[in-house]
Amino acid sequence: MTLSPAFIDRLRSIVGPEQIVSSSASLQHNSRDYYWYSPILKPLLDDKAADLIVRPRSVEELVAVVAAAVAERVPITPQGAATGNYGQGIPMQGGVIINTRQMTRILELTPESARVEAGVVLKNIETAAREIGGELRFFPSTLMTATAGGFLAGGAGGIGSVTWGTLWDPGNVLAVTVVTVEETPRILTVSDPEEMQGVIHSCGLTCIIADLTFALAPAQPWQQYVAAFDSFEDGLRCGESLAYDDTTAKRLVTILEWPIPSFFRQLVRDNACPEGKAISLLHLTIDEAELAARLAPFGGSVTWRSPHTAYLTSGWQLSDFSWNHTTLWALKTDPRITYLQDQFDPERVYEQLRQRRERYPDDVLEHIEFMKFRGRMYPQGLTLVRFRSPERLQELMDYCEEIGIWLANPHTHYLDDDVRWNGQPILDARARWDPHGLLNPGHLRSLETK
Ligand SMILES: Cc1cc2nc3c(=O)[nH]c(=O)nc-3n(C[C@H](O)[C@H](O)[C@H](O)COP(=O)(O)OP(=O)(O)OC[C@H]3O[C@@H](n4cnc5c(N)ncnc54)[C@H](O)[C@@H]3O)c2cc1C
Repeated sequence: MTLSPAFIDRLRSIVGPEQIVSSSASLQHNSRDYYWYSPILKPLLDDKAADLIVRPRSVEELVAVVAAAVAERVPITPQGAATGNYGQGIPMQGGVIINTRQMTRILELTPESARVEAGVVLKNIETAAREIGGELRFFPSTLMTATAGGFLAGGAGGIGSVTWGTLWDPGNVLAVTVVTVEETPRILTVSDPEEMQGVIHSCGLTCIIADLTFALAPAQPWQQYVAAFDSFEDGLRCGESLAYDDTTAKRLVTILEWPIPSFFRQLVRDNACPEGKAISLLHLTIDEAELAARLAPFGGSVTWRSPHTAYLTSGWQLSDFSWNHTTLWALKTDPRITYLQDQFDPERVYEQLRQRRERYPDDVLEHIEFMKFRGRMYPQGLTLVRFRSPERLQELMDYCEEIGIWLANPHTHYLDDDVRWNGQPILDARARWDPHGLLNPGHLRSLETK
């Protein structure tokens, strides 16, 4: 769309020329997230771009930018570090991207909670919190780049979810300050759990997050280990024994089928990934002797360790190989790979894995993360898929559902196609806070088909 020169001048006077991106190459580059993980989304979203990117540095600038865009009825797409995987941060109808990455103040920090502006990178919260005895309850594997606001609006869980669950679980997000998209934008504090459902994983469709308060956990001396097993099933059984044991402190329990470990060149060089073996990536506090005893009944052995003194300070961090980073390493090895986000029934996981392997012996490589969701532990898959055709992928997803594997479809950019969609609270929040429907249009199928 064409933006009026007067509107662009107004934005420039609010944030200063250096906080405006307007060249077409930069707009194309900076309008993208990691939607290209999906061969279905890639052709749909490749040509989408904003007409302008504006980067407010404070809530005052944010409010003024929103007021200017609403006055002109320009579509607004909020953006953090643009590491989302489903294209839900892609401006489908152009307009402005409001990037909150310059809002980087940590507003209040105690060992129990962190109130931060939307643009604070999660790694910076983690580092500051650990200095005073706290730490994030959980974080995505994009810890080093993702913003707090982007995680709340576009993420789910990650390292730490094996103990603390996800963004949806009560008590993890304490409050959010949102800016409404109205002629005179309001700054509202949301702390009621019901109302919070209109913000969590709302993908920029209901409000712009100015700041938020995460509950923290007590900091732990995390030791990082890689353990190897003869088979994926041995690794999974061992993972269960650690994940379900409430007396063992843990932040990461990842199980990966061979040849996925061969994709991690750095770990291969360190002899952490023996040929043909499944591996587990672990963040635990127990020492190596105790871990060896826990692995022995499953035929596992420690192949790599990094002491707690190196945690987030030096050397490889296993989080860089876990969750959706695993998929990234796989894509670097073979660009035809894609993935599923699939949750197994804890009572039937071995049967479900066997059924799927029998039906699709060459299509899938197993990757499981243990994760709590609404108080229950689940083996959560981030299954790698050898992509053959859209039809074959759909058939595989249909089969997963047929045998009771729950899917959060990463091949749609429509939020309401996703099983994690909060439903009515999102629609209500959008009606209340964005009455002109300017926020991130094109990502709700129910509105598209009306
Ligand atoms: C390699 C890789 C690994 C990943 N691992 C994980 C993982 O372990 N767990 C996980 O949950 N996710 C994961 N993700 C997805 C993503 O990185 C995270 O969800 C991340 O937290 C998103 O943060 P961001 O700042 O990049 O947000 P963005 O991608 O910029 O935005 C995400 C969504 O939030 C909206 N948004 C951004 N900022 C605001 C704001 N201030 N107000 C309102 N809406 C806003 C956007 O419009 C978009 O819809 C991974 C992605 C990649 C590429």
